[in-house]
Amino acid sequence: MSDLHPTLAGAFQTVLDRNPGEAEFHQAVREVLDSLNPVVAKNPEYADQSIIQRLCEPERQLMFRVPWTDDEGGVRINRGFRVEFNSALGPYKGGLRFHPTVNLGIVKFLGFEQIFKNSLTGLPIGGGKGGSDFDPKGLSDGEVMRFCQSLMTELYRHIGEYTDVPAGDIGVGGREIGYLFGQYKRITNRYESGVLTGKGLAYGGSQVRTEATGFGTVFFTREMLATKGLRISGRRVIISGSGNVAIYAAEKAQELGAQVVACSDSGGYIVDEDGLDIALLRQIKEKERGRVSDYAEQRPNATFHAEGSVWDVPCEVALPCATQNELDDDHARSLVENGVLAVAEGANMPCTPKAVEVLANAGVLFGPGKAANAGGVATSALEMQQNASRDSWHFDHTEQRLDQIMVDVHARCAEAAETYGQPGNYVAGANIASFIKVADAMLSMGVI
Ligand code: NDP
Repeated sequence: MSDLHPTLAGAFQTVLDRNPGEAEFHQAVREVLDSLNPVVAKNPEYADQSIIQRLCEPERQLMFRVPWTDDEGGVRINRGFRVEFNSALGPYKGGLRFHPTVNLGIVKFLGFEQIFKNSLTGLPIGGGKGGSDFDPKGLSDGEVMRFCQSLMTELYRHIGEYTDVPAGDIGVGGREIGYLFGQYKRITNRYESGVLTGKGLAYGGSQVRTEATGFGTVFFTREMLATKGLRISGRRVIISGSGNVAIYAAEKAQELGAQVVACSDSGGYIVDEDGLDIALLRQIKEKERGRVSDYAEQRPNATFHAEGSVWDVPCEVALPCATQNELDDDHARSLVENGVLAVAEGANMPCTPKAVEVLANAGVLFGPGKAANAGGVATSALEMQQNASRDSWHFDHTEQRLDQIMVDVHARCAEAAETYGQPGNYVAGANIASFIKVADAMLSMGVI
C-alpha cells in the first residue's frame, strides 16, 4: 500500500468511518485510491469538487425483506439488496448475487468495482450491484421461482432500461433471470426487454452473453501474454470455480490450444491431466447441478482433492474464477514457485492485496478483475443495444465484438499505466483509465 495524497487519505477515512465492518468494501476502495496519487496531483479539480468523496458514496442503497414459501409450506425470510452506485456514464448496471455470504458490504464492494469496470468497456453504463443472502443450493425449481418472484415484487419499482439494469452473478444464471423477467413483465404489464440482461435467447437474450465473462478473461490473458511475445497455445492452465465464468474460460482457453488441467468448487478441486472434458463438466454443473467430485468419478484419470488448494497445481496461467479473496499470498508464492507466467481475475477481487504484491514482485503478468472480467458486462451492454433496436446478432459477430472490446480494454489499461509512469501495471492502468472517464463525466454534470 502506498502513502495516499491528502485528498485520497481523507476520502478513505470517511469510507472507514461511514461504513464500519465492511472489510471487502474498504479493500476495494483502497485498491483504487492506491492508484490515484499521480492523477489527483495532476488534476486538482478532482479534489476541489470532492469527486473522490462523491464516488465513494453510493447514489442510492436499497435493502428490503424477501418473504417466500418453501415446498413444506414454511415461510422463509431473506434480505434483498440493490446498491445503485454511480450513474455518471449511464443507467446503473451490474449483477445480482444469491449466496448466503451476501450482505450490504459485499454488495457495495461489488457495486464500487462495477463503476470502474463498466467505464473501462467504453460503453454507456453506470455501476450498480445487488443480490440476496438466499442460498439456492438444494432447493427445488419451484422454491427458486417463488423466491425470485418475491424479490422482483419489491425490486421492480427501482429498475428499468433507463434506470438500473440487473444481470446474473454467483447463484443467478439463466433460470433465475427467466423467473425475474417473468415477474417484472407480469407486474408492470410491459415487455421491457432491456430491464435485465442474461436473458434466454428465446426472449431477448444475446448470443455469447453466457460465455462472455469467461471468454473475455481468456482474450485479456492472450493480450497480456502477447506483450511479452508469448502465446496461450500449449500453456498449462488452472482455473478456480466451476460455474459460469470458470466453465467458459476453460472452454475458450482449450479452443485457443491451452491444456486446462484443474478447476474447483467450494467442496474441493479436481485435476485431470488429460485436459478437462468441458462437455462433461457442463453436463454435471449446468444440467445436473452436481459437484466437481462427480466429475472425478466419471473420468478415469481425474482426481478429486477435498483438502489443499487448486493453486498448488503447477501451471503457467492461473485464472481465479470463483469468489473474492480466494487466492492469498501463500497461494501466490506457490504459483510463483511453480513458474506461473500470468494470472487474470475472472472473478471479482479473488486475489488479496498481498497476493497481488507477491505476483507483481515476481514479475508475473496480472490482470485485475475490473479489466479481465469486463467482457460479461460489456456483452450485457450489447444485449441492451440489441433490445433497444429490436435486433439480434449472430454468434460470430457478437463474439468478434466482445474480442475487440477486450483488446480495447487491455489497450486502455496499458496506455494509462504507461502515461502515469507504471508500464505493465494493469492494476494502476485499469484504475486510472476508468476513474478519469467517470470523474470527467461527474465534473461536467455539476454537484449532483
Ligand atoms: P457461479 O455461481 O456460476 O459459480 C461460482 C463458482 O465459484 C462455483 O463453482 C462455486 O462453487 C464457486 N464458489 C463460490 N463461492 C465460493 C467460495 N466461498 N469458496 C469456493 N468456491 C466458491 O458464479 P459466476 O461464475 O457467475 O461468478 C464467479 C465470479 O465471477 C464471481 O466473483 C462473480 O462476481 C464474477 N463475475 C461474474 C460475471 C458473470 O457474468 N457471471 C461477470 C463478472 C464477474 P460452489 O458451487 O461450491 O459454491
